[in-house]
Amino acid sequence: MNQVVIAPPRVRIAPSPTGDPHIGTAYIALFNYVFAKKHGGKFIIRIEDTDRNRYRPESEAMILDAIRWFGIEWDEGPDIGGPYGPYKQSERLPLYLEAAKELIIKNHAYRCFCSVARLEKLREVQTANKLPPGYDRHCRALSVEEAEKKLAAGEKFTIRFKVPTSGVTSFNDQIRGKIEFENARLDDLVLLKADGYPTYHLASVVDDNAMKITHVIRGEEWVSSTPKHVLLYEAFGWTAPLFTHLNLLRNTDKSKISKRKNPTSILYYRRKGILPKALRNFLALMGWSLGGDQEIFSTETMIENFTWERFSLGGPVFDLQKLLWMNGQYLKQLPDEAWVAMIRDQVFTDEYLKQIVPLIKERVQALEEFIPNADFFFTGDLKYEGTSILPKGFAAKVVAKWFSDILEAFETLDEWSVPKIKAVIETFVAQNGLKTKDIFMPLRIAISGTPVSPPLFETIQVLGKEMVRRRMRLAMDYLKTLKEPIAQNTEPTPS
Ligand code: GLU
Repeated sequence: MNQVVIAPPRVRIAPSPTGDPHIGTAYIALFNYVFAKKHGGKFIIRIEDTDRNRYRPESEAMILDAIRWFGIEWDEGPDIGGPYGPYKQSERLPLYLEAAKELIIKNHAYRCFCSVARLEKLREVQTANKLPPGYDRHCRALSVEEAEKKLAAGEKFTIRFKVPTSGVTSFNDQIRGKIEFENARLDDLVLLKADGYPTYHLASVVDDNAMKITHVIRGEEWVSSTPKHVLLYEAFGWTAPLFTHLNLLRNTDKSKISKRKNPTSILYYRRKGILPKALRNFLALMGWSLGGDQEIFSTETMIENFTWERFSLGGPVFDLQKLLWMNGQYLKQLPDEAWVAMIRDQVFTDEYLKQIVPLIKERVQALEEFIPNADFFFTGDLKYEGTSILPKGFAAKVVAKWFSDILEAFETLDEWSVPKIKAVIETFVAQNGLKTKDIFMPLRIAISGTPVSPPLFETIQVLGKEMVRRRMRLAMDYLKTLKEPIAQNTEPTPS
């Protein structure tokens, strides 16, 4: 199970800038980092930004910032460069084109001229006949002349991988052992899209090779991609790195960690006041153990004692209560001066206060009223029992659905600004034929815990997306526990 590492390893995380920095990225980064440091190797960050539909420009800086806060330093990356840069895939496009062409020349890939309409139709027929979805290899059969003709006529094309139709592809996972896939079950995957951008598979393999990555340590969700990658390495004639797939983090009900059940953004934990070292310790325990029952240990101790043998399979549960307990252990040990500095530097920061003061100053007559009016800007989860979160005349499940719809719309915002937040809520009100006051009060209570709070949109903006999401979700959970009121507007039954 445990291999001997001869040369210093080169490992990487390859986050896609599609949203908030995810807690799963921190988890994978930790194990990559620890493995690299254990063996005197390098830890690299590469930004995989080739999915232009899901790309969020602000996300890259947020991810780097979050990993830096988490306390892990990288040796090469998009911001600091390195010998194998650039470290952002959108800046490496010619490499992928060249690689795809190389595979065509080697007869391992072909141009596919199938239209989107044809592929959709194919899928429909497959679904109707209960067949597994997949490309029918229509263009694989085109003769060179036919393909040349289409090319000359300017037809759009993608480049697909000629996956062997028989045989077995296998790899040795460092913690899972040998994993085998039948080639017949693999699709002729697209390598280069019609817009000239590579797919994840091509870009990942080309870059891992070019960047001399020795070990790919990533989440379990990529296991089914790995045989495709192994076949690509073979087709190029390159040596594949060693693969390790870590277990996915789970919610307490064992489902895959999701925003619905657990905050997944690293920024949420940072805002909550979780110490990076406590988070690292907690994430280390998601599969790994130091041995015995010692649960509190530093990242340095983890590095010293790191072996994959201490990693056990089985879905690690991301239990927020456990994280809080652990954070408490670390906090207790900090000297008072560190506490004072932390509260000043992380809680009452000038930056945050400057955003809150304009919302509060109209409402107070003495400074002592500041805290009671602004407390919800500094606290965490709120309690909704006994509040008037449920507006008269509406069922609790209806209000919970409003929250869910608004949250969904918030997720699509590319910018967390007052005008954008206002637009979401106003559109929601209009589309649902509601009155502004119907939704304002429950929303206000959900995010601030009180019916009298500063201007709503500004408050939402200042609190930040993670906190608003968390509170709205908790409010939804609370609403779901309420007994539905007796229906209103019904005529009394004549006796
Ligand atoms: N871009 C992929 C992600 O978002 C990287 C997966 C891999 O490590 O190969 O997680």
